Amino acid sequence: MGVTRYARAMQHATRRLHSAELLAIGTELTVGETVDTNSGDLARLLVALGVHVTRVANLPDDLEVVVDAMRTALTRADLVITTGGLGPTPDDLTREAVSSVCGEAVAVHPGTLAWLEGLWARRHQPFPAVNIKQAWIIPSATVLPNHNGTAPGWWVDRPDGRVIVTLPGPPREMRPMWTEAVVPKLHGRGVGAELDVRTLRLTGIGESQVAEVLGDAILRRSNPVVATYARRDAVDVRISARASDSESAAELADAAEVELLGHLAPYVWARGTTTWDAALGEALDVRGWTLATVEHSTGGALVALLGHLPALQHAEVLAERPAAGDAALLAEAERARSDAGTSVGLAVTTRPAGSDTDVEVAIVTPDGSRVEHRLAFLRGRQGADRAAIAGAAVLLDVLRGL
Ligand code: AMP
Ligand code: MG
Repeated sequence: MGVTRYARAMQHATRRLHSAELLAIGTELTVGETVDTNSGDLARLLVALGVHVTRVANLPDDLEVVVDAMRTALTRADLVITTGGLGPTPDDLTREAVSSVCGEAVAVHPGTLAWLEGLWARRHQPFPAVNIKQAWIIPSATVLPNHNGTAPGWWVDRPDGRVIVTLPGPPREMRPMWTEAVVPKLHGRGVGAELDVRTLRLTGIGESQVAEVLGDAILRRSNPVVATYARRDAVDVRISARASDSESAAELADAAEVELLGHLAPYVWARGTTTWDAALGEALDVRGWTLATVEHSTGGALVALLGHLPALQHAEVLAERPAAGDAALLAEAERARSDAGTSVGLAVTTRPAGSDTDVEVAIVTPDGSRVEHRLAFLRGRQGADRAAIAGAAVLLDVLRGL
C-alpha cells in the first residue's frame, strides 16, 4: 500500500503532459445550434505548446455520456480538457461528471462562494441559490478564477499524474482563463516537447500531386509530421518536428525541409503565412519598382488578391477581352504601365476552356517582357481566383529573375 502510494506520488511529480483530448460539452453543439470554436482554438494553442492533441469530441449535456467520455479519455491522454457545462442551470453537468469520474464528493469552496455572493451584492441583488454549484470543489481540484463571468474552472490532479481541466463554454471567458490560469500551471508541470513548425507555400501544383510526389513514406511519418493543406492562395506543406532524445526539433525540421525541397523547390514561392501581396511587395521594393495591372473577364480577382500591395498604383478591371494573341495582351500590359507611369505592367486574361479556364499573363518591366499561358482548374469564380494567382506567380518569377 505504502509502496503503491509512493509510486503514484512519483508518477504525479514526473509525468509530463504530452497528449491531450478535448471534450466540448453542450447539447447546443450536438444539435448544431452553436459551432464548437473552443476546441479548434485550444487545439492550436496546445499544439503550439508541443502537446499532441489526439482526439476532439462534442458531447451533449448528458451526465452518462460525459462521464463515459471522460473516463475513456483518461485511459488514453495525459490531459483531458473540457469546455462548457459550468453554468448554474441543471443541464450544466461538468462538475458532476468530474466528481463522479474521480469518485470524490463535491463541497462548497468558501472563498469562491464569498466571491460569487459579492458579485450579486455589488449589484444589490439577492444571491440566487442555483449559482451555489458554481462554488463547488472536489478535494483533488484547484479553482481556476473567472474574471469574465460567474463560472470558475477546475484543475484536477489525478493520482496517476494525469490532469483534467474544466473551462467555461463562452469563448470570452474560456480564453482568458486559459491564458491566465491554465498555461502557467501547464508550464509548471512540464508540458509537451520542444517543437519546430514551418510551412512551405506552393503554387503551380495541386495538393494530390504534392502527395504523389512526396509519397506515403514521408506523409505517414510521425516525426517530423509532414502534412499538406489546400488553401485558397497556395498548397501549404507543413513540417512539424518534435525534439527526440538525440536530435533537436530544429535539426529534425532542417533535415525534413531539405528532403522536401529536393522534391518541391520549383513550386515553393513563400514560407510561413506570407501572402501574395506581401511576397510581391517585397520583391518589387527590392528593385524600387511600382505596378499597374489590367485584368479581363476575371471579375476583379487580381485586384482582390493584390489590392493591399502598396506598390500597386493603378488597377483596371475590364469585362471585354483584348484580341487573341500574345501581342495584343502585351500591348495591354504596356498601355497600363505607360498610362499609370509605373515600372511594371501586368495583364491577365481568362477564357473558358472546357470545364477549366485558359489563363494568359503578360508582363512588361524596365528589363523586358514575358508572356505565359496556364490552364487553371475549373471555371467561373474559382477559375478566376486561380488565374489571378497565376498572374501573381509569373510576376514573382520575373521579379526574382527566374
Ligand atoms: P456553458 O458553459 O455550457 O453554459 O456554455 C455557455 C455558452 O458558451 C453556450 O451557450 C455557447 O454560446 C458558448 N459555448 C459553449 N461551448 C462552446 C464551444 N465549444 N465553442 C464555442 N462556444 C461555446
Ligand atoms: Mg451548457
